[in-house]
Amino acid sequence: MDSQDFREAAISSIDEIINYYDNISSRDVVSNVSPGYLRTLLPTSAPVQGEAWATIQSDMETKILPGITHWQHPNFHAFFPCATSYPSILGELYSAALSGACFNWICSPAVTELETIVLDWLAKLLCLPGCYLSTGSTRGGGVIQGSASEAVLTAMVAAREKYLLETVPSDLSEEEREDVIAHKRAKMVVLATNMTHSSTKKAALILGVRFKSISVRAEDGYALTAPVLASALEECRAKGLEPFFLTATLGTTDTCAVDDFRGISEALEAYIYPPGSPGEVWVHVDAAYAGAALVCPEFQASTKIEQIAKFHSFDMNMHKWLLTNFDASCLFVRNRNWFVQALSINQAVYGNAASDGGLVTDYREWQIPLGRRFRSLKIWFVLRSFGVEGLHGYIRRTVKMGEDFAGWVKGREDLFEVITGPAFALTVFRMVGDGEEMRNERTRALCERVNGSGRMWVTSTLLDGSRFAIRFMTGVRSTEERHVRAAFELLVEVAEEIVNKK
Ligand code: PLP
Repeated sequence: MDSQDFREAAISSIDEIINYYDNISSRDVVSNVSPGYLRTLLPTSAPVQGEAWATIQSDMETKILPGITHWQHPNFHAFFPCATSYPSILGELYSAALSGACFNWICSPAVTELETIVLDWLAKLLCLPGCYLSTGSTRGGGVIQGSASEAVLTAMVAAREKYLLETVPSDLSEEEREDVIAHKRAKMVVLATNMTHSSTKKAALILGVRFKSISVRAEDGYALTAPVLASALEECRAKGLEPFFLTATLGTTDTCAVDDFRGISEALEAYIYPPGSPGEVWVHVDAAYAGAALVCPEFQASTKIEQIAKFHSFDMNMHKWLLTNFDASCLFVRNRNWFVQALSINQAVYGNAASDGGLVTDYREWQIPLGRRFRSLKIWFVLRSFGVEGLHGYIRRTVKMGEDFAGWVKGREDLFEVITGPAFALTVFRMVGDGEEMRNERTRALCERVNGSGRMWVTSTLLDGSRFAIRFMTGVRSTEERHVRAAFELLVEVAEEIVNKK
């Protein structure tokens, strides 16, 4: 493909993408292909001779799109959104064109510097405390990671090394030190709740440290509170375990609960040490989805985001609810040295005058992989194209649709019961009935039937180990009130059929 071929192919591809978006609602939301469908459609090996773009492109519609579940579809109410937008797509296009493994500042100074700048913009936009800014007094800053899972793993490695550095006496011989560390590691424990996303448990698994799940209560809205945390800390103490990491969530996956940040600080302070003392518990805030709402002042106030000044790291995914395509997980830390001391690598081939002079940020020291893409470009394009007002408008519009939906559900108490929400455009509800078993059976049938219709997609969850519930999310950009209304009407129609045993 030469430059002229590329020009024609790119124009034709962009046209096709625009048509895809303009007509997306005419497709079924969820792909209905059978497992292995693609193997029957494609040759068994790569072509010996290169093919024309027109031939390749035609396979998108006939072979690939049938196997796509349309996350940008207005009737996609499942999981959380996985947003994108035209400015974001353009950022991705430039990033692909400028492809490089930009792990050190010198590998492309603009890649590093734009990332630092746009993450400062984002930190200010989300009203994060000043300690998370690269210009703040604590030497904080942000870094883009591939996912919230990668972010929690990165934070946990840094937390483990910080804890060991602070709690292992420095006057030991090398051998004694290794013994103490080995002994300590066996006792170190990560804390999270039974509502925390599984990525925290996976990170603990990867690091080979203990993991303790704390059960939160329905009467606390499934949020972690001070008394519940205090009792978990005491249990650890009684068993001789050493908690060194806690994930606090702003917007849990199941119900979008927000943990009590002030209560968490108080419980940790009461447990052993004042903040900042050696061996404190690192608190990581997982705001993967709902963190996007912090662009609006009303959510900064309701979540009490200022409380996280005492915590250690904060992560939110622009690629969930903030109009930027996957991957763009924005991880902020209160002191970047914590990352560098844990993840700095020293290999001759990566040395250069700028790095050695200590004048620049080398993001390879803030992450697990070495190479990194130019991901800040799409965030920059999104923030500039939508502006703060555009982002406010989008978040508030999707939240309002969630409120409308929850209101309609509450208005049909003969059929439904809202369990949580609306919170951050998510409502969790189930069908009513005589006894748990009937409620579960009915709700399960409702979920299966509406999804089976191909007209919308919702996901479910199991609360308190036994309460089956449907999660309905209204965060997709193409969703309008009429789509939510139609979805509600379908839910009512099917629920009535279930009650009338049709
Ligand atoms: N944290 C929360 C609260 C989530 O809801 C999710 C996924 O939905 C994740 C973390 C994991 O996100 P990622 O796919 O970016 O690892």
